[in-house]
Amino acid sequence: MQFIDLAAQYQHLKTRIDKRIQNVLDHGQYIMGPEVQELEEELAEYVGVKHAIACANGTDALTLAMMVLDIKEGDAVFCPTFTFFATAETIAFQKATPVFVDSDEITFNICPIDLEKRIKATIAEGKLNLKAIVAVDLFGLPANYPELERIAEKYNLKLIEDAAQGFGGSITDQQGNKRIAGSFGDIATTSFFPAKPLGCYGDGGAVFTNNDEYAELLKSLRVHGKGNDKYDNVRIGMNSRLDTIQAAILLEKLAEFPQELIKRNKIAQQYEAELGDKLNTPKVPVGYVSSWAQYTLVSEKRDEIMAKYKKQGIPTMIYYGTCMHQQTVFRYLGYEQGGFPVAERLAKRVFSLPMHGYIIR
Ligand SMILES: *Cc1c(COP(=O)(O)O)cnc(C)c1O
Repeated sequence: MQFIDLAAQYQHLKTRIDKRIQNVLDHGQYIMGPEVQELEEELAEYVGVKHAIACANGTDALTLAMMVLDIKEGDAVFCPTFTFFATAETIAFQKATPVFVDSDEITFNICPIDLEKRIKATIAEGKLNLKAIVAVDLFGLPANYPELERIAEKYNLKLIEDAAQGFGGSITDQQGNKRIAGSFGDIATTSFFPAKPLGCYGDGGAVFTNNDEYAELLKSLRVHGKGNDKYDNVRIGMNSRLDTIQAAILLEKLAEFPQELIKRNKIAQQYEAELGDKLNTPKVPVGYVSSWAQYTLVSEKRDEIMAKYKKQGIPTMIYYGTCMHQQTVFRYLGYEQGGFPVAERLAKRVFSLPMHGYIIR
């Protein structure tokens, strides 16, 4: 058994994907070929935003979003301490200061109550300019955006959704309005790393926004800060385009994605039915849909349970065993052990079971 079975997915889509790749080989427009724009249109429609801008990976997508929001030295950017490194890395890469926030015990996502405490403490300290929040849809579950949007507005902070793991997730409110991951905050980002819910066959990413000005800036920034004339550069940017072949593969994967999302949720239901009364299984709040980037459980006996699964030939993984405030590179921020009780407890107890749309054929 595989933790994520990309080969089984390829077998299922082989004819369609092979044809798409062959098309690119035939037309030869490997950089910014027609498939890139086609994919951007499909992505924007799926997510329900005005603009999707493809780029080279999910880390660049965060960096591009932060460049657009002018996140820089002296800025405080709040993010969860229990996340993948890139969330915090990109804040520091802009020379801004990551301000870590504890997690919600049930959803594993950024805790709005702790967030507000840390915003108030940062204001009281008076050293940093309050700038933005980066929320993460950890393991596929959208963060608590109704609360996060309220807090962002109250303190005049920009809100970035890191939907690298969240693509396909959604929140439906009591009035029945459904919002899909990638549509929250001022700008949202995702990753098409192969193991993510929507993955390509290499590196890829995208940025989502409803703001026309941001979209124009993003298109310039991903190609060396180009102006209207390709060889007149009007700002310092990056080289962060999505390869045409990856866009071609993603077009077929995106077409299949709604079916895969249903299958992933069926598998989560089966896990819950089999394990729910024995183990601390993940819970999805009312109105939320997870894209199940990971199926993550919590146990004090993690090592014992993982060893038992291993004997049965079932692979398990730990996401994540080290919080951001525990990373060597962030020691300079001066956080102490014990400052993030929920996240620290999760880092010691979480483990994930295999999750992909092809476990059940
Ligand atoms: C994977 C991931 C990223 C980075 O994506 P890459 O495409 O690998 O650069 C950023 N944030 C989170 C939460 C991720 O899981």
